[in-house]
Parts: sequence; structure tokens; C-alpha cells
Amino acid sequence: MSAAATLKSSVLGYPRVGNQRQLKKLIEGFWAGKVDESALVDGARALRTQHWQLQRSQGIDLIPSGDFTLYDLVLDTSYNFGAIPTRYQTIPAGLPQYFAMARGLQGAAAKGADQIVDVPAMEMKKWFDTNYHYIVPELGPEQTFQLTAEPSLVAHFKEAKALGIHTKPVLIGPVSFLLLAKASGESDFQPLELLPRLLPEYRKLLAQLAEAGATWIQVDEPHLGLDSTPATEAAYKSAYQYLADGLSPSLRLLLTTYFERVDDRMALISKLPVHGLHLDLVRHPQQLPGVLDQLPADWVLSLGVVNGRNIWKTEFATAIDLINQATNRKPLNQLVLATSCSLLHSPYSLEFETKLDSEIKDWLAFANEKLGELATLTAVFNIQQSAEPQPKRQSEVDAALEANKRSFAARRTSARVVNPQVQDRLAKVQPDMVVRPTPFAERYPKQKAHQKLPLFPTTTIGSFPQTKEVRQARLKFKKGELSAEDYRQFLLKETERCVRIQEDIGIDVLVHGEFERNDMVEYFGEKLRGYVFTQNGWVASYGTRCVKPPVIYGDIDRPNPMTVDWSVYAQSLTTKPMKGMLTGPVTCLQWSFVRDDQPRRVTAQQLALAIRDEVDDLEKAGISTIQIDEPAIREGLPLRRTEWEAYLKWAVDAFLLSSCSVQDTTQIHTHMCYSDFNDIFPAIQRMDADVITIENSRSDLKLLRAFDRYGYHNASGPGLYDIHSPRVPTVEEMNERLAALLNYLPFQLIWLNPDCGLKTRDWAEVEASLRNLTATAGEFRRRY
Ligand code: GLN
Ligand code: ZN
Repeated sequence: MSAAATLKSSVLGYPRVGNQRQLKKLIEGFWAGKVDESALVDGARALRTQHWQLQRSQGIDLIPSGDFTLYDLVLDTSYNFGAIPTRYQTIPAGLPQYFAMARGLQGAAAKGADQIVDVPAMEMKKWFDTNYHYIVPELGPEQTFQLTAEPSLVAHFKEAKALGIHTKPVLIGPVSFLLLAKASGESDFQPLELLPRLLPEYRKLLAQLAEAGATWIQVDEPHLGLDSTPATEAAYKSAYQYLADGLSPSLRLLLTTYFERVDDRMALISKLPVHGLHLDLVRHPQQLPGVLDQLPADWVLSLGVVNGRNIWKTEFATAIDLINQATNRKPLNQLVLATSCSLLHSPYSLEFETKLDSEIKDWLAFANEKLGELATLTAVFNIQQSAEPQPKRQSEVDAALEANKRSFAARRTSARVVNPQVQDRLAKVQPDMVVRPTPFAERYPKQKAHQKLPLFPTTTIGSFPQTKEVRQARLKFKKGELSAEDYRQFLLKETERCVRIQEDIGIDVLVHGEFERNDMVEYFGEKLRGYVFTQNGWVASYGTRCVKPPVIYGDIDRPNPMTVDWSVYAQSLTTKPMKGMLTGPVTCLQWSFVRDDQPRRVTAQQLALAIRDEVDDLEKAGISTIQIDEPAIREGLPLRRTEWEAYLKWAVDAFLLSSCSVQDTTQIHTHMCYSDFNDIFPAIQRMDADVITIENSRSDLKLLRAFDRYGYHNASGPGLYDIHSPRVPTVEEMNERLAALLNYLPFQLIWLNPDCGLKTRDWAEVEASLRNLTATAGEFRRRY
């Protein structure tokens, strides 16, 4: 070992699913009974080995273990500590029980078992402000914890050790774990109260890791950067004091934060008895000086300079400036260069992107390329400091720095990125472009007359069943087995059939069915300039599910209309109003990899202008009901409350910019897949959509209470039935639900519709459900 002080590199977590989604295939095969348990276990181990070896070959010093899971790491934490809700306790322990918690179980409790169970899955929730979803721990006041006999964290550490790789175990800290949990049942119980019962089990786990030979432990406490209360502050203090008191002298705890800044939390953090701190310097580089001022002298500081959750290269010059701030104040051996957060949120490798435009590809770095960036950055500092031979030569490093500089210079000035026309339009956006000229109360009656709408109008959210035939035709078309014209003819027929069925059922405002779309963002991304698509850029969304978000790399504009042909064709088939269907600017932004060279706000504005053009073209083509879906507005909320207002200002402005150019008689709808509006209600009102359709059927009147409390002024369609279930709702239950709505909303402003799009259902269910929905409409038209 060199005595010279050198800088180490660290990865906070590596994607688990495999570069060809091997793990997804194994697990789903296991669920389907096609892969047996030993094949699953072996396949999973092979992936871990591959991932560790790959990181080692790139020269990473602190390679994570314990970042691998068959479903979700928060679920693993619950499982390892024995926090298994009662409803799963009769299911055989091991994979059957674990997967039942993850996904619910209907049928035999385990393969070949006589016992039949029917248990829903545990709740899933978004992991901070990412598009990953974790399984929410369910904890009650009586909860006890018991560390499992063979915690996976210890097993994986040993597994890597046997390969000659000394890893850094990663665990979710006790305070964040409890803050991620919810109270089981309906109680107001605060899971954080369970801390004293949980800590002894954490201590046991740490002891086992020490015994196995671990040194650095990465303890993730992402909640440290979020809004805190005296109770959470006290919890961190007592938790880390307790763990320190029992800590093996060979262990060192690296307190790990990400997604938020902690310079304003240092009064608390610097008192915690740990050995180091990790910062997300990609999201919040400005926190570094404040943290350095207050960091205990003997702590290690891990500098998260390589973005773990986006696909852009790291600009070395900027990162080096930042690292220099730290090297000026601390010796190299007390500093670590790291990914900003786990690479879970990055796709694997650019090596599989054989079709990506080479100019744009040069600007990107996926997980493996990020490993290379860490190696280069550490080399920059280590070569100067050490007389010992280094893994990288100076000339190699110089070449990498030079190439990086060239790449950024090219990106900054590329005509692909900067579009002067778009810039010019943005500069000309005026305040009157983000407000409808006439108030709702005046325009709504005009719309009703124009569209000849009855009382309690019925509609749907947009998509109709994406049947096997539809998906197969799309696949054949993509593979070149079906000509563009044949594919189009097929879609036209599907659309026509969909219109006829809606007419037959008696729906008032029809939709074309969205058969031509495979995804509500990708469809528009493919038609806008400024977007590219990857072949293999998969990232985990939840469990085994991965998504392949499109990449926004440049100024957005719309060369041609995107949906007008489909809507006009569908309208030509019927005299009923046909609703145009668009995805809103904030949702396009949220569900894409976005540019890091301009604020999200600006990208949203560009998207809004493109959608505004589409709205105008639809209106000109005679479509006078237009829905702009914004299911992602809520998930864009910043992690700290103090920043909500600023976000909601630009997010709602973007929606308004996309929707406000229309005449009074054109009716704007929007749709959201949730009903948790309590804390964002004024923003929803300010969107000023004529009609908002929302998820409601699963949410015990929460939404209606919010509507009632704040008095929503515009028309709304709270979903009358749950589309996530194959059940056909009866007329009676929809009557009841509507009657309940009428206690809160004026009858003149209510629309009848399902909760969300129908693409995952089959036609038989859809037809039966919608017939019942129109029966409910008929019933209430007679009553009012
Ligand atoms: N219009 C879309 C559909 O019906 C909306 C999807 C969504 O809300 N996520 O499928
Ligand atoms: Zn929805």
C-alpha cells in the first residue's frame, strides 16, 4: 500500500437489473413458474459478480454491496428486520412471502401448497423526487423487530469478499427507514416512535458486518436534507449515539445524503458520532463551502460530483473546481470522489447504443461511463500527489480532460441544441399568454351550447384497450414486417371501431382511443425536435419494471402537427364532439431525461409552446374539446416545502401557456391520476382547465374534502370507478358514488368518467363498465 495520501473513488449503488434486463427476465420467469428458485438465485449471484468485477476493472475503490435486491431495497430492509405485516404471516417465509409483500398474491400460498391466499400488495411510493418507487414499510404501535438469521447485506459482503473484492455495504439508515414508513391501518401513529425498538437490530447487523470484515459502511439518510422537526433531529442524535456506543472499532460510518443540500443542517450533522459525510454536489454544489466550514476535522468527506440520475457527461473542469475547494481545506486521504447518488437511476452503458446519433452520443455518460469518469477524476489528483505508479498515466488523463473539454464546447454551440427561433419565441412570451381571456363562468355555458352537452356529460380519459392485436401490429411495424401503410390502415380501423362502440354505448364526448401511441410521452417526443431515444437506456421504475425515458437534448420545437390527423379522422366518423388528446409540458418534462444546461423551467416552457401550437392546430381543424394530461405535476414538487411555490408557479404557467390560446367555446380538459390535492389546491385551481378528470374511486373522499374546503370553481370529473381492477362496477355503486359527489360539488359542473385511461383493460370489461356509467348518467339526468 502506498503511504502517499490519495483520493479514493466511490459508487453509491450500481443498477441491479443487468445490462440486458437479465434479472427482470429471471424474476418474471420465476413468477410465471418457468424459472426455479435455484436458477433465480444463481442468476442473481452471477449478476452481482459481474457488477462488482466491472467496477473493480474500472478502478473504483469503494464498491457497494447490499445494493442488490430482487425487488426493492426498502422492502428488503423491512423483511430483514422482520417487519412483515400480519396479512403475509401465514405465507411460507422466503421468496413466496417476500414477493407476496411486493406484489400481492391471489392463489396458492407457495408452489404446490394447498393453502389459498388473497392478499393485496404493500403500498408503493415514489422514491423522493425520482421516478423509482419503493415499497412503503407498514408499521404499527405494537411492531417489534428481529434481524433475520441471514441478512442479505452480510451474505453479499461475504460473497464479494470470496471474489477478492472488499466492498462497502450500503444500508438505509434507521431514521430515514422509519420516515419512509407509514402507520399500518388508520391510526395517526408515528413510525419514528419505534426507533428505540429498531436500533438494537441495526446494532446487531453492524456487528455481523464487522465480524465479516467490513470497514466503511454507507448509511443512507436521505431524509437529513429534507424538512426537519425537533422530533427528527432528536431521532438522528439518539440513533447515531446508540450505534456509536456499540460500534466495533473496525467499522467506519459514512453518513450519506442525496437529492438535497445539508449545509444548513450541519449544526446537527457535525455533532453525530460518525466518520464521514457524503454530499450530492450535482444537485447542490453551493452547499460545499458551508459544509467544509462546519465539518469535523477528522471526518472523511465524500464528494458526489458525478450525476447518478441523469445521462449527461460530467464536465471535468467544473468538477475539478469543486474538488479543489475541498482539497484546499482537507488532505486527499480524507476525501472521496463519488457518484452523487446511486446509479440505480442511470441506464447501463452507451456501448449498446448503436443507433444513437454520434454527435449526441458524445455528450452522454451512462452508468459504466460514469465509472470511467470517476477513475479519471481521481487520477487527476492522485497522479500529482503520488510518486507511486498509478493505474492511469498522465498522458491518458490529459487526453481524457481534453476530450471532455471538446465535447462540452461542441454541445454548447451545437446547432442541434440551440435553436434561435425557439429562443426568440421564448423571449416574447407575454403574461397575457398564460391566462384565458374570459373567466370560466362565462366560457363554460358557451362551451356547453357549442358542444350541445347534456347535464352530467360522460367521457373517458383517452386510451382504449391496447389489445394483443394492437401491440403485435406495432411490433411488426417496428420490425419492418408490416408496412407503414398497412399499419396505418390497421390503426384507422381500430379507431373507427372504438368510435362506433362509444356511440353505441352513448358516451357524450368521444375519444379516438390512442391506439397509435405506445407511451404518452414517447409518442410526442418522437414528433418533437430536441428529443432523442435510446435503444437500451432502461432504468428501474419499480420491482422488475423498467422504463426507457426519452432524452431532451436541445431546444424543443414542433416541426409538424402531431395528433391532428388522428383527431380529424376520428371526428369525421361522428357528430358527437371528439376530444383531442395531448400530454402536458410538465409531464413530458418529468418523464424524460432532461437537459442539465438550462433550468427545468425553461425546458417546460419550450415544451409548452410546442403543445400550444398543437392546440391551435387542433382548434383550427374543428376540434373544440382538447385534453392536456398532466399526471406528473404533483411528482415534480421539490423535496423542501420552501421551494414548492416557485415550482408550482412555473409548472402551472407552463400548463397555461400550452392551453390558453383557445377561444371561449373551446373546452380544455386536463387529467391527473391522483387526488391528493390538499396541499396543492390553489395551483390546481390556477390551471383553470374547464374540466379536470381525476382519480377518485380509491381515495375515500379525500379529494372531495379538499374541493369542498377550498371551493373548486371549474367543472370536474372525479373518477366513478377504478380502472386498475378488472371488476365491472355496477350501476348502483356508481349511483352511490355520484350521490356522494353531489354532496360536495354543484351538479351543473360534474362530469362522469372512469378514473384513468382504459388501455390495460379488455374490451368486454370496458364495454360493460361504460354501459353502466351511461346508465348512471341517465338516472341522474332524470333526477335533476
Ligand atoms: N390519456 C392517457 C390515457 O388515457 C392518460 C394516461 C395517464 O393518465 N397516465 O391513457
Ligand atoms: Zn390517469
